[in-house]
Amino acid sequence: MKIDLRCQLCGDEDESVNHVLFTCSMARQIWALTGIPSPSWGFHNGSVFNNIHYLLMNTTNTLWPHELRLSFPWTLWRIWKNRNLASFEGKCFSPLESAQKVKEDWTEWVEAQKGDEEIGLVNGPETHGLSPLGHGIGNRRYGWSPPPLNWFKCNIGISWSNRNKFAGCAWVLRDHLGKVLLHSRRAFVRLSDKQEAHFIGLMWAIESMRSHRVENVIFGLQVESLVKAINRPIAWPSFRYQSMEAGLVLKFFRRWKIILENSSSNRCAFLIAKSVTNDCRLQSYVTVGHPFWLDGVFAVERALASD
Ligand SMILES: [Zn+2]
Repeated sequence: MKIDLRCQLCGDEDESVNHVLFTCSMARQIWALTGIPSPSWGFHNGSVFNNIHYLLMNTTNTLWPHELRLSFPWTLWRIWKNRNLASFEGKCFSPLESAQKVKEDWTEWVEAQKGDEEIGLVNGPETHGLSPLGHGIGNRRYGWSPPPLNWFKCNIGISWSNRNKFAGCAWVLRDHLGKVLLHSRRAFVRLSDKQEAHFIGLMWAIESMRSHRVENVIFGLQVESLVKAINRPIAWPSFRYQSMEAGLVLKFFRRWKIILENSSSNRCAFLIAKSVTNDCRLQSYVTVGHPFWLDGVFAVERALASD
């Protein structure tokens, strides 16, 4: 196919990746406006590697302001988007608009990350949420913490055996006093990887709560990506399938929350799950109360609940 090989933005020379991203007059202006210091001899004329290397090396350069050091991927992205806009739609943002957009994209990203730390983990979506204050349902406290009055907490433990490709899953349902109402254990075989095990385990626990007609439930698990993805699906597009599937079942609950636990706060559920993979206990069950072999651990957590 005969096409014009010149850069459609500056008409200057043959268009290459390096030209578009670094040496095109359009790119140069955008880089200049974002404030990133150019290399002393300017961006390398022929090597994308050299130029990216320069940016990566400076991510730890404390002489550059924090934002400049970390925001360069957004600049690259915006230059690339601009090039495509010009090629396919015949439109183009000015260098000034582009630099402005880089700032906006970057700020949006930083805000989204903050959101995960401050809201996503400790508190669920606003519509299902309750105040995180005073209930001790955050993940910062050491050891298990009980749900507020009228809520139930379902801790989910998942243990993965990479050698045998199977997972042990367990959930433990407790009230605000730390009393174990029910617990369940199940093995899942023929799974492809740990991620699948985490998701299957979570879905199984949610479905179980639904079939036991538990309302107002806080799901606690140790899988950060799933907790974040379900709380903020927009910020986690690659987990869209998981967050949508979970969302379909969660909408049957009157109120729900999903929070991140750590190994100390999720100990009971994890130990039950681990008994599946450690001792190959493949038999599933649901039963009232807690397993007798964990008497001591549960007693400690009940005591924590009455603190
Ligand atoms: Zn050009």
